[in-house]
Amino acid sequence: MSYLVLARKWRPKNFEDVVGQDHVVRTLSHSLNNERLHHAYLFTGTRGVGKTTIARILAKALNCEQGVSSKPCGQCNACVEVDQGSYIDLIEVDAASKTKVEDTRALLDNVPYLPTSGRYKIYLFDEIHMLSGHSFNAFLKTLEEPPEHVKFLMATTDPQKLPVTVLSRCIQFNLRAMDNEEIVDQLEKILPDENVTFEPAAINAIARLSQGSMRDALSIVDQAISYTQSNLNEAAVRDMLGMLSHDFIYSILYAVANRNTEELFRVVEQMFERSINIESALDDLLLKLHDLGLHKVAPKLVESRTDNVEQLRELADVMTEEEIQLYYQIGLLGKRDLKLAPTARIGLEMTLLRMIAFHPDSQSEGKTADESSPVGGKANLNTTQGAQSQPTQTAPAATPNQTGEIQSTEDWCHFASTAPNLNGMAKQFANQVSFASREGNKIVLIAPPKASSAIMRSSNLETVEKVISEYIGQKVVLKVRQEVTEIATPDEVAAKQRKEIENSAIERIKQEEIPKMLQQEFGAIPDPKSIQLPIDNPK
Ligand SMILES: [Zn+2]
Repeated sequence: MSYLVLARKWRPKNFEDVVGQDHVVRTLSHSLNNERLHHAYLFTGTRGVGKTTIARILAKALNCEQGVSSKPCGQCNACVEVDQGSYIDLIEVDAASKTKVEDTRALLDNVPYLPTSGRYKIYLFDEIHMLSGHSFNAFLKTLEEPPEHVKFLMATTDPQKLPVTVLSRCIQFNLRAMDNEEIVDQLEKILPDENVTFEPAAINAIARLSQGSMRDALSIVDQAISYTQSNLNEAAVRDMLGMLSHDFIYSILYAVANRNTEELFRVVEQMFERSINIESALDDLLLKLHDLGLHKVAPKLVESRTDNVEQLRELADVMTEEEIQLYYQIGLLGKRDLKLAPTARIGLEMTLLRMIAFHPDSQSEGKTADESSPVGGKANLNTTQGAQSQPTQTAPAATPNQTGEIQSTEDWCHFASTAPNLNGMAKQFANQVSFASREGNKIVLIAPPKASSAIMRSSNLETVEKVISEYIGQKVVLKVRQEVTEIATPDEVAAKQRKEIENSAIERIKQEEIPKMLQQEFGAIPDPKSIQLPIDNPK
């Protein structure tokens, strides 16, 4: 027996088996069961969502020898022959190859004759929008008043190309592209039946690439079955599809987060040796960033559906929510502009470089993003001026230790925020540990017990050690204990200072005339997030 491609083998043969088009199936079933039939049906939707499949089921339902109903028997001659594509009263026309008016006329000449064996003579036009203007004109009269025994079924991916006069004479059904979940569900049903083993992540990747088309999904599966010898594992499938492996995605984002361009380009180089599909690579990065963004608010949800939890946590630890948003936005624009880039590779590389260049810490000092965000329902006071008009409060960092000494928590905070060459993960490390003591060239730091493994990497420690040695002009040895401590870390000190300044700014704003009036009249309260503090604008 010859091998039947999956898309044909698993093409739904009755309405119950149609996936993801409930709205269409329900309406059609009702009208069939009540015999309230129209003479022209138009099915629209992107490729591979089931337009002609539904039309063929409808043809069976109309001509089944057991009578018109939403459940054609599937056994009678009419049903069997429609399934085989040999039913004489179902005339399928590929409009793309019969665009000329002569073709249409020849077809229409046969319309008046009664069906040969069935109840109805059914014309199924695929890609109807390809007909020429003259063809549509010739068709229009018949479409307006067809004989009782004729039904027109039409399918198109592009209904906007149809003349309004045609559209207005049809019942239109818009088939939607399928969700990834629907495609995955369907594949999970089909594959065991085909004796194919699979990893969920592999069929997820396939579903994503097929962009809502079940037919595309099944033809990719066909390809994957022979590529992987009936064992759809994720690595092989991604390889076949030219998709990035998870390790690459992880390494790229990790390098971006640490602004490590050298590492980044090493990974990119390796990536290109495998001739990956660049657009899907960008998609993969965006998907991972989406996961990371979600992880910040609902870690359990994301982890429950991720295979590489450890990697995800590590990435989430080194990126702030703002950074994730920024990278996502840059990635999105990079994808949009990919076709404009001289080559796709350049497009991807520039996108990654932009992620690093636009990193908040990479920006020249003094520039800050506009952070004003109005509070819903309440008048948003413009408090910026109020806070800036009295710049008496400045960050304690204004009394810096210029000698580059580290003897106290204050020194440590100053070091963590100002030391040149302290970047990325090493900087995060410095900001998340407390200064405990210094004896000669030995500095003891305390890290919180829950410090992430990404932060506690020995490479971070080594970098900080090196930077401190340069900073104080003396070789030092760092020792880090992990324990609970009362001593504040630079991050904690900064948060506390910010809170204090914010509170005093709010108090001050409340005392000013206009805000006072707004508060009394409208119940407006200052939105802390909209207050621009002096510490937001380092000089
Ligand atoms: Zn039948």
